[in-house]
Amino acid sequence: MFVGHYGVSFAAERVEPSIPLWVLFVAVQWLDVLWAPFVLLGIEKVRIVPGFTASNPFDLYYMPYTHSLVAALLWSGAAMLAYQVVVRPSRRRADLVIGLAVFSHWVLDFIVHRPDLPLYDDSAKVGLGLWNAPAAALGLEAAFLFGGLWLCLRGKPARSPGTLAFGVLMLGVQAYVFFGPPPTSDRAFAWTALLLYAVFALVIWWLRDRRPIAEAR
Ligand SMILES: [Zn+2]
Repeated sequence: MFVGHYGVSFAAERVEPSIPLWVLFVAVQWLDVLWAPFVLLGIEKVRIVPGFTASNPFDLYYMPYTHSLVAALLWSGAAMLAYQVVVRPSRRRADLVIGLAVFSHWVLDFIVHRPDLPLYDDSAKVGLGLWNAPAAALGLEAAFLFGGLWLCLRGKPARSPGTLAFGVLMLGVQAYVFFGPPPTSDRAFAWTALLLYAVFALVIWWLRDRRPIAEAR
């Protein structure tokens, strides 16, 4: 899953408004934010195999350190601790929301990935494989993204148009990933992913976090 993860960010911001949205944007993609440099360093592996699934060519055959269930739980715990240390004193609920946001990545990936998500190490791989039904997969991404956006923006029309437009743009990027040309190499794929995560976090910071909270909300 790609832009659907951000639906969790928007919903989480509604639950715990003390957390800046850009932090939640990084949190929900944290496993992928680690995955990209791991691929670039050769620690984790992906192959571009055109036609590998009906909606993308990604054979994610080795990613035990970022996308195994055990790793996802450990990274979620680490993110909670890190948030506690960086934002001191943080609210206990905020720590928990950060941990759940990071872990949500694995749960949503589980729905769309083919069985390439190990439960532990590189073993016992699971995944419901919705990527093989592109229309349904895209519909689910849109449902999560706009469901979260709706929760986040409900009752706050003042600064909604820009954020809504950004949501539509994100869905456009998702459609391009599904139906556009495949990346030229595993490294190109990792760099593109990393760049998109950075740009998305920057844009949402600019749209929602940059002004003082009292003015923004
Ligand atoms: Zn992922």
